[in-house]
Amino acid sequence: MTDIFDMIVKRKKRIALHTTELTLENAKVANGAQPGQFLHISIPYQTLRRPISIANVEKKKGLVTIILKEVGVGTEWLASVQTGTLLNVIGPCGTGFSIPMIANKLY
Ligand SMILES: Cc1cc2nc3c(=O)[nH]c(=O)nc-3n(C[C@H](O)[C@H](O)[C@H](O)COP(=O)(O)OP(=O)(O)OC[C@H]3O[C@@H](n4cnc5c(N)ncnc54)[C@H](O)[C@@H]3O)c2cc1C
Repeated sequence: MTDIFDMIVKRKKRIALHTTELTLENAKVANGAQPGQFLHISIPYQTLRRPISIANVEKKKGLVTIILKEVGVGTEWLASVQTGTLLNVIGPCGTGFSIPMIANKLY
């Protein structure tokens, strides 16, 4: 269910130029997340949250991975956080879909 949560940054990896992968931990968010949904992440000193899509979920470990392109103040801040940082997140947001549903349509 969509709600407001703190998520702890567990892993951080630079995967390409100006592109960073963050893995965040919160069992409730991971358990409720579906493909196609996003997290709405609070950025210090910014009024508006920044939407970032969910790239991967490891439900058993309570982990959600996001991938961000650094284009401005919010995404640059997210790329600068250290592991252990708490992010304030609304999520999972948006209408997700299930993989079997898509697979049935493709084949
Ligand atoms: C549903 C959804 C899912 C998304 N998922 C992802 C995702 O998975 N990964 C991802 O990387 N992004 C994703 N985005 C995009 C991401 O939300 C934006 O890139 C992010 O909000 C930008 O915030 P920022 O603070 O970094 O940039 P901002 O500072 O808000 O700047 C955004 C853009 O405006 C330009 N800009 C800023 N200020 C000015 C100015 N004064 N004059 C001219 N131009 C200016 C910047 O150069 C930049 O190009 C998603 C967006 C949506 C709506």
